[in-house]
Amino acid sequence: MSKAYSRDYWENVLSALTLEGRHFVDGKHRASISGETFTRARPMDGREGPTIARGGAADIDAAVRSGRAAFESGVWRRQDPLEKKRIMLKWADLIRAHGEELAMLETLDVGKPIMASLNVDVRLCADGIQFYGEMIDKLYDEIAPTGPNARALVRKVPLGVIGVITPWNYPMIIDAWKLGPAIAAGNSVVLKPAEQSSLTAIRLASLAVEAGLPEGVFNVVTGYGEETGKPLALHMDVDMIAFTGSTEVGKLIMGYAAQSNVKRVALELGGKSPLVVFEDADLDAAASAVAWGCFYNSGETCHASTRLIVQRSVQDALVRKIEAVTKSDIALRHPLDPAAQIGALIEEAHLEKVLSLIASGEKEGARRAFGAERVMAESGGYYVSPGVFVDMTNDMRLARQEIFGPVLAAIAFDTEEEALAIANDTIYGLAGAVFTRDMDRAHRFSEAIHAGTVWINTYDMSNFATPFGGFKQSGFGRDRSVHAIDKYCDYKTIWQQFG
Ligand code: NAD
Repeated sequence: MSKAYSRDYWENVLSALTLEGRHFVDGKHRASISGETFTRARPMDGREGPTIARGGAADIDAAVRSGRAAFESGVWRRQDPLEKKRIMLKWADLIRAHGEELAMLETLDVGKPIMASLNVDVRLCADGIQFYGEMIDKLYDEIAPTGPNARALVRKVPLGVIGVITPWNYPMIIDAWKLGPAIAAGNSVVLKPAEQSSLTAIRLASLAVEAGLPEGVFNVVTGYGEETGKPLALHMDVDMIAFTGSTEVGKLIMGYAAQSNVKRVALELGGKSPLVVFEDADLDAAASAVAWGCFYNSGETCHASTRLIVQRSVQDALVRKIEAVTKSDIALRHPLDPAAQIGALIEEAHLEKVLSLIASGEKEGARRAFGAERVMAESGGYYVSPGVFVDMTNDMRLARQEIFGPVLAAIAFDTEEEALAIANDTIYGLAGAVFTRDMDRAHRFSEAIHAGTVWINTYDMSNFATPFGGFKQSGFGRDRSVHAIDKYCDYKTIWQQFG
């Protein structure tokens, strides 16, 4: 029987929590070497949040040394694959067993609804660790074709120490996308979570050690981008940076790699994903996909369908249906209310950015169909109601810039050629979708939209078997799927001649 959750239940979970905000290095919690800490306002109510260690170059250096020592000792990478698998599966089980605690830490940090944290974020984090754990004893190397009396082994070997830098919008899920394959491949990791979302990263690391992961294989250093992320990306003994975040910071990461030791980089960056609806589409299905695709997680989703490109003849009808779905299904509530479908934005500065992009749309001539206003201000938190702007053109700021808030830009088109041109007229290429009953057109479109993932008559379907990532300035390298392991390995060829 499923548990009956209430706001009081979650308030009790919150008050019983012990909040650990120190780094996790070499298997132990540690304060910053400088002794410095920071706090920030909680997104749900603006009250002061937990105290977090403010990491610097010295903390990064200690974590990298710990990761390197674990790698060189072979304590993890040379471990029996079956034992490695057992440890990662135990780690996944511990994440599930501590699901309510982890969900609360995530909601406290980022303001997303508690039930989403529990049923989506915790679940997908555990599933990700399990997926890569299960691969460990199924990875084979190759023997290359050679002439007689020779044998060439092509081994896939781990890189060494991986720096992982992650954003705040889906902290646990994105951490698992990178930790899973990097650690399964035999590497050590130093994770620098976003300064807004440190708590679950620290807890994932202590659970990993509890599961049996050797000390030093997975370290966490918390802190700000410039102070903590930059020294990690510039570090001479880090072999790779796996980064998810904005395109702006992604470009800096490439620069740091070039300025230091030519470390490799994988970049999962921003998006402004088009969702194209033709007049022959099932408008009810399209309305639901648009509303959830754009407004889920308060729009703080890299592949949110923020540009609705809709055939002019059905624009008004579709927008009315989107409004109906939004108002009936997508409840904006306090994040600890189990009925909340969407919650708070991450912080006040981000709220201001979202409101200023909304204002720019109005100034440039876009018309508000509904929503897109600050609400629940009396809570002290940062809430914006989901909303739609129409009469938009693709050159308006609101159509071009990633908003990371629950705001949809609707742009009308008349011909298929025009729709495709608008869809691809963006610096990004993360995701896209087409809604039509004409399957020839659906396939033409899915081929022609320049994006890492394209959906036909649906949005946001995904699982661990499918790669995820972008084209163009949405970055390169893929998270998820069996292919993600490749990114954290390299080939080594070993020749032997025999008589
Ligand atoms: P951000 O780029 O501001 O920060 C991401 C991370 O980089 C944080 O940990 C931050 O501290 C760190 N950072 C900032 N400056 C740095 C520097 N100079 N050197 C090293 N590290 C630095 O992004 P954000 O605001 O945390 O997250 C939102 C962005 O992430 C959006 O652009 C979103 O589209 C993107 N994102 C992409 C994906 C994807 O899979 N493509 C998924 C989620 C989020």
